[in-house]
Amino acid sequence: MNANVLNLPQYRVLKVDESEHDYHVYTEIAVERTPCPQCRSGKVHRWGAREILFKDLPMHGKRVGMYVRARRLRCDDCGRTFQERLPALSEKRLMTERLASWVGKQSLKRPFTSIADEVGVDEGTIRNIFRDYVNELEAQFEVETPTWLGIDEIHILKPRCVVANIESETIVNILADRNKKTVAGYLHVLPQRERVKYVAMDMWTPYRDAVRAVLPQATVVVDKFHVVRMANVAMEQVRKGLRASLPPKQRRGLMHDRFILLKRSHDLTVQEQFLLDNWSSLHPTLGEAYRLKEGFFGIYDAQNKAAAEMHYRAWESSIPQVVRSAFAPILTAWNNWHPEILSYFDHPITNAYTESLNNLIRVMNRLGRGYSFEALRAKILFTEGPQKREAARPKFERRNHREESFLAMRTISSLSYGDPTWDDETERNLGVDIPTLAAMIEDDRFSAGPNR
Ligand SMILES: [Zn+2]
Repeated sequence: MNANVLNLPQYRVLKVDESEHDYHVYTEIAVERTPCPQCRSGKVHRWGAREILFKDLPMHGKRVGMYVRARRLRCDDCGRTFQERLPALSEKRLMTERLASWVGKQSLKRPFTSIADEVGVDEGTIRNIFRDYVNELEAQFEVETPTWLGIDEIHILKPRCVVANIESETIVNILADRNKKTVAGYLHVLPQRERVKYVAMDMWTPYRDAVRAVLPQATVVVDKFHVVRMANVAMEQVRKGLRASLPPKQRRGLMHDRFILLKRSHDLTVQEQFLLDNWSSLHPTLGEAYRLKEGFFGIYDAQNKAAAEMHYRAWESSIPQVVRSAFAPILTAWNNWHPEILSYFDHPITNAYTESLNNLIRVMNRLGRGYSFEALRAKILFTEGPQKREAARPKFERRNHREESFLAMRTISSLSYGDPTWDDETERNLGVDIPTLAAMIEDDRFSAGPNR
């Protein structure tokens, strides 16, 4: 009756004890005696035994301890003594192989402490299994090298570097930090790294240094989002400076109407426009800051580099002294990142995933408590559901409004179809689909374990 309780045919169950939280299953090896490892002789006899406790998969909500009588054997022919093989068990972990494999998968979904508690081992053991499992996944994780590579920042306990495929809106990897050495090291081992044609990034010098060193063929583009948001920051600084000088009643009003200032002028309602005009006439500095913010955004309406440069020069010379210090960081950035900012006008990258990435960061941070960076990184990269795959040769896609901005890229990537390394039969892993992952976390499907 007990014989099948473990469903491990290699072991004979001798006895099962049950307590409130645990099963204790006493077993011996059912298979034939192990031949001598030295001379291969089958003539062996018992030479003592010891009992070893292994943990197995939880059963009926209880932890399972499997006690194995592991026999020592002695070879009649050469006299060597040895322990018989223990099939399906990991002696390193003192658990069944199937438990170790289950723990590996669970460790991507749940906090280590919760698994440790359910299985009846310590947290360190779970962490070690997690590490081995992640190394295994890492070795299998072959993501297509993007033509348009995005480098962004994600905050997981501290700033980390997210490498993305801009065309497919997927995360390709997450690096532990944003240092040049880390980023360059990663780019250096990218398979077919010469395939990268464009790299979109924020204005973080180590990224640019890494790309210049390792991907000299790639054009660096600072995407619009990272540039124009500086104008919002500058305007906010002016508003805050003004607020400090106001009596409390007006100060509150200014706080309340803050969102109006951040809106683009073409999005303002009649009432909001009225409020803005009101604030501007009361506080001309604020009106100036708003005008400059809008003017800076307006540079991105330019049709080409030359026009953008011209708009910028006109804009810069229109900055009055009174708000100049607030807008100074923009002037510095424009100087330091001049070619990369202007490259945008030749290669307008629509960073469609930015919003999803921000959403992901928000939900990650909520989830983040209790997880290490390595655990969160593995969750993002290796959770099975959100990985985006496609046939080696993309399907013909009807052009729609969103793809219009990718027209240039499609043309570029279409040149690569003739590349002999692109096997039409194989499926390409494009990385982790950001919106899918964010939605999964939002729904809690991501962190749900069997206990919940
Ligand atoms: Zn022998």
